[in-house]
Amino acid sequence: MAQQEVDAGAAAKALKAFAAIVGAGNVFSSEEDKVAYSDHFAPDDMEEQHQPSGAVAPSTVEEIQAIVKIANEYKVPLWPISRGKNFGYGGAAPVLKGSIILDLSRMKKIEVDAASGTVLVEPGVSFFDLYDYLQQQNIPLWISVPGNSWGSVAGNALDRGVGYTPYGDHASRICGLEVVLPDGDLVRTGMGATAKGTTWQLYKPGFGPSWDTMFCQSNFGIVTKLGLWLMPEPESVLGFDIDVDKPEDLGWLIDTLGQLRREGILQQSPSIGNWLRAAATMTTREEWAKPGEVLDEKVIAAIRKKFNIGWWAVALRVYGPVEITEATLKVLERSFNGKPVLKMSPTRWVKGGAPEGSPATGVPVTYPLANANWFGGRGGHLGFSPVLPVSGDLALKYFRRNYDLHNEYGFDYHPSFAIQDRSMNNINQLLFDQDNPEMVAKLDTLFRTMVKEAAADGFAEYRTHIGYMDVVADTFDFNNHALGRLNRRVKDALDPNGILAPGKSGIWPSPKKGGAA
Ligand code: ADP
Repeated sequence: MAQQEVDAGAAAKALKAFAAIVGAGNVFSSEEDKVAYSDHFAPDDMEEQHQPSGAVAPSTVEEIQAIVKIANEYKVPLWPISRGKNFGYGGAAPVLKGSIILDLSRMKKIEVDAASGTVLVEPGVSFFDLYDYLQQQNIPLWISVPGNSWGSVAGNALDRGVGYTPYGDHASRICGLEVVLPDGDLVRTGMGATAKGTTWQLYKPGFGPSWDTMFCQSNFGIVTKLGLWLMPEPESVLGFDIDVDKPEDLGWLIDTLGQLRREGILQQSPSIGNWLRAAATMTTREEWAKPGEVLDEKVIAAIRKKFNIGWWAVALRVYGPVEITEATLKVLERSFNGKPVLKMSPTRWVKGGAPEGSPATGVPVTYPLANANWFGGRGGHLGFSPVLPVSGDLALKYFRRNYDLHNEYGFDYHPSFAIQDRSMNNINQLLFDQDNPEMVAKLDTLFRTMVKEAAADGFAEYRTHIGYMDVVADTFDFNNHALGRLNRRVKDALDPNGILAPGKSGIWPSPKKGGAA
């Protein structure tokens, strides 16, 4: 329900006015620039439907406030990004075509409070920047990174990204934000609302209502600083890399891990991935099958044999003093006693030893992105990510249904199940070849079918692509979409001209209030 169109003339005028604020070198409006800020991992027509009309890259809060003032004057929407690497969910691109990207990647300040284990980052700080900073300064704090760690610390936390250490629920570790509101006002949340803000990164709630989560996956403000808790470097990280042999092993695996997670024995969020998640970074489909051929169990067995991988695999890690991790490992081992495990390889890192060098130890990596090459051509991927209860039976039902759907539509099934305290994020990466029109034509139907079927069971997504934000928002339908009405009322109150990220998470400003021109 895209309700608005951006006035191209107004956008062009706004871009000119922005140049006076940030300098012409920091305004980007050529055809090449528009492509650079588009969603390259989406099919061409979708990429085109969400192409911005340009970008502006400020470096200070004052510049952002001046840009917001002009956007309000011209009623031109801005789409804030931190580093714009949110691929699978839209990259740097906006929901509403013609919006101007507010690129905050030049803002790269890092302030670490080593004693308290916190950091205050500006939006442009990437996972690699923060990792390097901590290493160079010899600060014994670890970050938590997502599988593809090329994005920003702030943008990922704001979009509720997940990692693999005990601090893997990134949004839940946010402590205090600085935000430019759509009318240009500057606010600090929590304890940062005192002028000195001495305990800004230490205590999340503040006094009165808490606002941090209001700026996650929303279009209510432009975050210019984000406070985050970091994990003290543990004395040891011990664990097991576990592989299982059969598709149906997913059921008991999830039930076993769910119990360990609820009991707090496992404090990280283990992510169970299938054989393709592992294989797609090491090989391509054409080595194994003809185009259009379904990958049967025989082919899958051959791929698994070559790379020595299970049908499913999961990395379990426990963190802390050796006395504790060694004891916990025994409990983990006991939990898997008598279970049909294919491989259970112990891993051990103790302070001073060579680092494991994986996201499990907070080291940023980008190699998983290689999976986009699986089908050949220009690779793309789209995430379908429902939240499910931690139940083996249910996971098996979902796995079967979605696996069959993938095969029916000619896609290869690439799921993971990330287990949290009381829920699982079932992240399905729809890999595709953008140069295969038949495949691209089926993508939309497959995606919508999966959303619809999950909704019929009462399940909805935790995050979605810019092209499906309305579709997913529509599944939050209690009391005739009361949540949507609340979101819109807040949106209209804070952003009467509808200039900030219209359509984000399905939140559009009311047209009667003006909306973006
Ligand atoms: P990353 O580069 O870390 O992958 P992105 O910059 O692509 O993250 O942003 C992810 C999502 O979060 C996008 O939808 C974007 O609009 C939103 N977002 C990112 N940074 C900000 C910010 N500073 N303020 C408000 N929203 C943001």
